[in-house]
Amino acid sequence: MERFALTETCALVVQEGDLTQSATDAIVNAANERMLGGGGVDGAIHRAAGRELAEACRRVAEVRPDVRCPTGEARITPGFRLRARHVIHTVGPVYRSAEKSAPLLRSAYRSSLELAVENGLASIAFPAISCGVYGYPLEEAAPLSLETCREHAGPLKEIRFVLFGRPTYRVWCDAAEELL
Ligand code: ADP
Repeated sequence: MERFALTETCALVVQEGDLTQSATDAIVNAANERMLGGGGVDGAIHRAAGRELAEACRRVAEVRPDVRCPTGEARITPGFRLRARHVIHTVGPVYRSAEKSAPLLRSAYRSSLELAVENGLASIAFPAISCGVYGYPLEEAAPLSLETCREHAGPLKEIRFVLFGRPTYRVWCDAAEELL
C-alpha cells in the first residue's frame, strides 16, 4: 500500500486487493448501462452486497430502454451487506482510441466523485474502471484517473484505488509518483 498527498486536504491511497472488502464510505462499481450486474468487479460487488443490490439497481430509472446509467455518468445505491455504506455505479467506455475514449473515462471518474461530494461522503474507493473487459490500456488510464481525482477531490478526505493484481497496482503507483 502506498499513500500520497493528492491535494492539501485529500489523501490518495493505492493498494493491491479486493475492492469488495473496502471500508470506505463508498466503493465505485465499473458497471454497464443496464446496471443489472455483469462479470468482473461488477459481479464481485453484487455477490458481496447480496441480492438487495440488484433490486436497488432495478429501481433506478431508465433514461431510455435498457439504459439506467449512460456511459460517463454515475448513480448511487446503498451498499447493503458490503462494508461500504454506498455503491456508486459508473460506466466507463469500451476502449476505442485515446482520443475518443479519454473524455468518457474522465467523465466516469468525475461523475463518481461529484456524487460522493453531493452525498456528503468523506472517502471513496475505485477499481481500474474500463481496464478489464473494456480493454482500456493501464498506462493511459492510470494518469487520467489520478489527474481527474486531483481536479475533483473537493472536500473528500480520502480517495483510494483498490487494484486487482501486481501489474495494475504497479502502474498506478508509478503514475502517482510521477504526478504527485
Ligand atoms: P470494465 O468492464 O470496466 O473493464 P472489469 O470488471 O472487467 O470492468 O475490470 C475492471 C478492473 O477491475 C480490472 O482491472 C479487473 O482486474 C478489476 N477487478 C475485478 N474484480 C475486482 C475486485 N474484486 N477488486 C478490485 N478490482 C477488481
